[in-house]
Amino acid sequence: MTARISIAGSINIDLVVFAPHHPQIGETVLGSDFKTYPGGKGANQAVAAARAGAQTTMIGKVGRDPFGKLLLASLKQNNVETRWVSQAAGAPTGTALITVDEQGSNTIVVVAGSNGALKPTDLDSAARAIHASDLLVMQLEIPLETVVHAARLARQAGVQVLLNPAPAQPLPAELLQLVDVLVVNEIEIASLSGQSCTTLSDYTAAARALPLPPSALIFITLGGQGAMAINGGQTIHLPAFNVPAVDTTAAGDAFVGSLATALAEKRPLMSALRRANAAGALAVTIAGAQPSLPYRSQIDILADTTQ
Ligand code: ADP
Repeated sequence: MTARISIAGSINIDLVVFAPHHPQIGETVLGSDFKTYPGGKGANQAVAAARAGAQTTMIGKVGRDPFGKLLLASLKQNNVETRWVSQAAGAPTGTALITVDEQGSNTIVVVAGSNGALKPTDLDSAARAIHASDLLVMQLEIPLETVVHAARLARQAGVQVLLNPAPAQPLPAELLQLVDVLVVNEIEIASLSGQSCTTLSDYTAAARALPLPPSALIFITLGGQGAMAINGGQTIHLPAFNVPAVDTTAAGDAFVGSLATALAEKRPLMSALRRANAAGALAVTIAGAQPSLPYRSQIDILADTTQ
């Protein structure tokens, strides 16, 4: 059964310069390289889901500029349906300006640009795509009112809502009540629950305290410690797959894309968690965001490996 997933979220261009050190105010530093990558949590998760085997539709907004065209082409190349990605007239394509120094430490300035122009009315236009999906996936790099509106549209049509509340911010109670699947990392669960967590039982308690519907599924990603799945009565923890970690960028996005696909395929909870854990692990073995997102065949192999 092919999973059908729609993703309403951000589409960014990542502009990365490599420099010996970060410039002081007023200083000009001679950099060594410049690279351009497609990014944005929404687009990353869309590519992750498509590579994991889902029929994936992106709902978003780029600018009417060369970066917008490039990002649309890149989504299409990755088999993501872009019919519902529109072009904002008055805003530049969402941009992350990243400086990486010789130690690999980065500073980042993100401008939401066209992502900030994705309005509830754009979601109304794409309602057909949401209604035709098994699952709607969202993050928080588009306006919150748009996220809430999209969740309402999905709920009205009986489509499940997966929310990855990143970057962390306070959420309206109504939105949490519309969530079927929540995927958070260690920082996001602490921020949402207001509880500090160190042990696995802290995470379970924090997850159970969230004002979600009783049937909601909660997944917590724990970096090199693996991931947890929590539902009403059950907690599962899977340690991380033992892989050589090169760059953890987009591990969370790989996890979400693979998880969404597995859940939309109606796999059992343990199998879905295993496949997401495998996708996250595969993503850390390769540098970069979208280049590191694994394909279904790779997920199949690692998820079947016992260790
Ligand atoms: P985020 O980047 O969103 O904070 P995490 O760092 O928690 O996400 O990583 C997401 C998932 O990727 C983890 O739950 C795990 O499955 C996998 N992962 C992350 N780091 C490693 C690692 N060092 N080794 C193996 N798997 C990892």
